[in-house]
This record gives sequence, C-alpha cells and structure tokens, in this order.
Amino acid sequence: MMGERRVAQEALFYEFSLERHVPTEHWVRAIDRFVDLSDIRAHLRPFYSEIGRPSIDPELMIRMLLIGYCFGIRSERRLCEEVHLNLAYRWFCRLGLEGDVPDHSTFSKNRHGRFRDSDLLRELFETTVRRCIAEGLVGGEGFAVDASLIKADANKQCSAEASEPVDWDDLARTRRSVREYLDTLDEAAWGAASETRPKFVSRSDPAAQWTGALKGHAFFAYATNYLIDLDHAVIVDVEASRAIRQAEVGSARTMLDRTLERFGLWPARLAADSAYGSAENLAWLVHERGIEPHIPVFDKSQRSDGTFSRSDFAYDHARDLYTCPGGKELRQRQKVYRTERPLVDENGLMRYHASKFACDACSLKPQCCPITPARKILRSIHEGARDMARDIAQTDAYVVSRRERKKVEMLFAHLKRILRLDRLRLRGPNGARDEFHLAAAAQNLRKLAKLLPNGTQVRAA
Ligand code: SF4
Repeated sequence: MMGERRVAQEALFYEFSLERHVPTEHWVRAIDRFVDLSDIRAHLRPFYSEIGRPSIDPELMIRMLLIGYCFGIRSERRLCEEVHLNLAYRWFCRLGLEGDVPDHSTFSKNRHGRFRDSDLLRELFETTVRRCIAEGLVGGEGFAVDASLIKADANKQCSAEASEPVDWDDLARTRRSVREYLDTLDEAAWGAASETRPKFVSRSDPAAQWTGALKGHAFFAYATNYLIDLDHAVIVDVEASRAIRQAEVGSARTMLDRTLERFGLWPARLAADSAYGSAENLAWLVHERGIEPHIPVFDKSQRSDGTFSRSDFAYDHARDLYTCPGGKELRQRQKVYRTERPLVDENGLMRYHASKFACDACSLKPQCCPITPARKILRSIHEGARDMARDIAQTDAYVVSRRERKKVEMLFAHLKRILRLDRLRLRGPNGARDEFHLAAAAQNLRKLAKLLPNGTQVRAA
C-alpha cells in the first residue's frame, strides 16, 4: 500500500539535541578531542581593545577555518554556507542550532589584521605539534625534509617579462601582495634567495616564482616546506618559501633550528632527496649541527664519455693528494707566485694537478685527459661531509631512511588531493604562509584523530 504524501509542517516545539545528533564516530568528534584553543584566546587578548562592541568570537573563526582545511572546503563563502547547514560542523564550532554564522568577509578582515599581527596561525600550528609530542607521537630521532610546489593565484596574462619595466611602487599603493613582495626582497627565503631573474614576474603576486620544475607547462608557484618526524609522519615544522632550490634548502635550516628552539627537538639523522645534498648543506648539517645526513650527495663529477671519473682517483687524507689509475700523484699547486693566490676558489673548490710530464708519457692518457695537457681534479673544501654522506649511503640505516622519506611525499599528496590545496587562494608571502600553516595544522589534527581514535586514552594536553 502506498504511504500517504508527507506534508511539511512547522512544529511548534522540537526536542532536539545537537550533541546526540552527531555520531560518536564522526570525524569532527575525533578531531575535536585534540583542539584546545584556550591558549589562543590568551595569545590574542593584547590585540583586542578593552572598550567598544564585542567582536566575533575568534575561537569560532578558528574552528570554522579548521573545518575548511580539514575537509577541503577551499572557499570561505562556501565554508559559511556549509557550517550554516551542516549539524556536525555546527557542533564542532559550538554554534548550537540557532547560532549565527559570521559573514565570509569577517575572515578576510581578521586575517589581514589581528591574525597576522599576532602570528595566530603559527601559534595554532605549534599547538598541534605540542599535542602530538604530548601524545607520544613524536620520537625526535629521525626527521625528513622536503618541499612541494603549490600553484599561486596568478596567471601569465597578468605578468611582465623580466626585462619589462614595472613601477612596483605605484602598484604597491593598491595591492597588498606587491607591498609584501617589496618588504621581503631582502629575506633569505624570498627575494635574497637568488639573484637570477625569473622569465616572468606576476603583477598580481610578484613573490610567486615562475617555474617549469614539474616538466609540463610553466606556472607561478610557492613552495611549502615540511619537516616531519619519521615515527608517525607528524609535521613538526612548516615554512613557505620561493619555489627555488636555494630557498628550500634555506627553509630546511630555518625549520631545524626553530624546532630545537620551540620544542627542544634535535634529530640524530635527517633524510632528504638530492636537492639538499649540496656540499655546503651537508657540511652545515655535519659540522655545525652534528646531524647525520641521510641524503644522496649532489655530485656532478661522474663522467659518461668513457674517461676516468673523479671516483677513479684515490684520495690520501694524510698526504692531501690524489693517486691516479696510472699510479701518479696529483697535488695542489706547487708553483710559487710573486703575488700570492688562494688555493681555494670562490666556490670553495681546490684543484689537484697531475704533472704534464707524467701525463705525456702515460698510456692511459686517452682515457684520462684526451684533450687537455694534464689531468686536474676538483675537490670541495666540504668533501669530508660529502664522504660521510657517501659512507652513510652504503648502510642499512640509509635504506630505511630512504623508504621513510616517502612519508613527506605522501603528506604532500594528501595535502593536494584530499585537502585540495593544489592552488593557493590567498596572495603574497603572508597569504601562502597562512594557508600552509592552517593546512599543516589540519593534517596534524587528522593524524591525531586517526592514530588515537575515539575510545583510546587521550593524555591531558
Ligand atoms: S694521464 Fe696523467 S693523470 Fe691520467 S692516469 Fe695517466 S698519469 Fe695519471
């Protein structure tokens, strides 16, 4: 028998409990157990006036932003609609059934004002790291570092070629992203990272880097840098930078130092790909920070034309010389010049020469130096650190580190596919910084919720 047609009727009274309506196994409940914003209120208090109309509750805005980044809701306008309609989101935001959802423009005003002045989103991210440490998810023995490109909100149509003159001061009067670009020109992670001018500069977001690093069409991008603990892939630090290698390596150093300063964490080993394997970076890790580099050495000395590579020459530490396959010695410059010349060039390289007399008489010359009078070998002043990294690369521990390093890449894949952060919505270095901090905080919260599901004993934060 067909049931009667239902007619929507407004009831006079409802008996409805939001608390009972949200299932115990819902993700918002799992995440909510680890969201503690009591410190955030104290952190923000100095940035609010003691008089005047009460503002929108900052905790409500942070909770809404967390919903947006945890569940991949990228637009703030849509976030407001979702929180308005979704009961579980209302419960998470402590809104009740009748609570008003703030207007989407409130986020923009607060972001450019109090949130940035107080570095609130950094504080929020660090709160999640402290919670992970308190729950025992951070071992602190091994870290991995990597960077990933995220498309900027800029396109080629609104860009200028490097040689084209642009009046940035004029543009800065109306565009916040241009003001931020000019302010960060001397910073190591931004303008000062490289003197090479990119092919195009965006007029709407000039700090974004024009890059063809992904081998397809070039685009404007920022880099998000993650430093993770290898035990459970908890993100212990995050940094926004220009999408070039020098800036990414600089960010890795910044994050290692900051993690020690903020959380007292100092890894015994660092896993990374060959982008971090330059001689200077390996020397910094080994000699200045005492960290084992589980990193492939960035090495261009290997030859593919059939002639001897540098690895065919044996280095004698005690006598500071190389021995060639023909049994002859290669030493640093023997000549004495009237005006003294340095033995190390501006790139930190030393030169070891074979004698022309020996090479002329050598039967191996066609395989060694067919077009030069004598063979020459370059050696970095940081070769000791490079040798250490090469030795580590032969160990079983390195095989483990190389496998564990993939955890950072998985976090980036999760960031782009599940949290949908494959293109930035905000412009300028500060916009990128805000988005990366929120996304990393969301990833740590999801990690806590996944590893410590409802029913497990949660330690007091
Ligand atoms: S050519 Fe010179 S450097 Fe090369 S193997 Fe012969 S002697 Fe040694």
